[in-house]
Amino acid sequence: MKKIYNCDFLNTSLHFLSNNLRFCCAPAHDGPNIDSRYPGAKNIFTALMKIRQQAVNEMKEHIAPKKCEGCIYLKEYDLDSPLLCVDNIERQDSEPLISNIIINHFQQCDCYCIYCPIQMTTKMIVTEPQKSDYYDLYPIIKQFYKEKLIDKENLKVEFQGGSIGVLKEFADLVNIFVENGVKEIKFFTNGIKFMPEIVEASEKTKVVIITSIDAGTRETFKRIKILDKFDIVVENLRQYRAKCKNIEMYTKFVLMEKINDSKEELNNFLKLSQLVDADKVQLDFDYNKFMNSKGVRNYVPEHFYELFEYFKEQGNLLNLNPFIWEYTQQVLDKGYFE
Ligand code: SF4
Ligand code: SF4
Repeated sequence: MKKIYNCDFLNTSLHFLSNNLRFCCAPAHDGPNIDSRYPGAKNIFTALMKIRQQAVNEMKEHIAPKKCEGCIYLKEYDLDSPLLCVDNIERQDSEPLISNIIINHFQQCDCYCIYCPIQMTTKMIVTEPQKSDYYDLYPIIKQFYKEKLIDKENLKVEFQGGSIGVLKEFADLVNIFVENGVKEIKFFTNGIKFMPEIVEASEKTKVVIITSIDAGTRETFKRIKILDKFDIVVENLRQYRAKCKNIEMYTKFVLMEKINDSKEELNNFLKLSQLVDADKVQLDFDYNKFMNSKGVRNYVPEHFYELFEYFKEQGNLLNLNPFIWEYTQQVLDKGYFE
């Protein structure tokens, strides 16, 4: 009985960070990666692909690559099992095209969430569109298309950030993906600025909007985001729902101790999610608190368990498809994060 490891992120994804190119965005593991001030340069990409090959070779020998040890996305397969999904494993053998791009090379933001690791460093609200402090991604993506490194038919893109509302090359990036037939674009947006590019993209492809509101009332929103923009965000989400042709909308709530961790706040948030006609509601942790103390075992506060259960129950009652990220579910099951 031969066992191997596999990771689909490693096989298909590229994650562009400020000064780092890697395959995944697993929060507690970096995976194989390369530090560079210009991560999209061809030599960097080629070097990363060599690292990938090395990691794949290890996985085939049932060895977990060092930077993947303990990651939930590192899956173990039994090659003799009739349940084996051959598709996943076949990708290990080839140099696969990129079918998942995560964009995270910009940090400027027009909001000031108190749990945000970016704001803890930059301490700045940006209101006008800016170039990334690190590098322009548009020419890199253009080059990738030219060199046929992208699986055009199956490409899914995810804009993280920063705020897409103040990313100068945002329109160019959306356009190049749409022009090349992207299958889906996911936008993490704080909702403060309405982006017509999202509406236009929804005419030609599926768009997914994920907005972390973290509150059900204006007062709590202001405590968390510092800015008094609750009404604007709600109105923008309603506009996306009304104007986008092919859209899936998630509203999200990041639980913070002693700030929004009550059933009342969750109830208000769920009502608000109904108002904007969200397809799914997501409950999550403030991971920054955990990540600031890596190596230390942070236990999930006892009352969070009740809140997660309550959220699922009420979300289901309201047909809001409550969703818990698998990574978060794993932390809940273990009881701690480290
Ligand atoms: S196993 Fe985890 S850390 Fe390694 S590449 Fe995959 S997602 Fe990233
Ligand atoms: S919207 Fe996102 S990037 Fe901006 S401050 Fe909030 S968490 Fe940070």
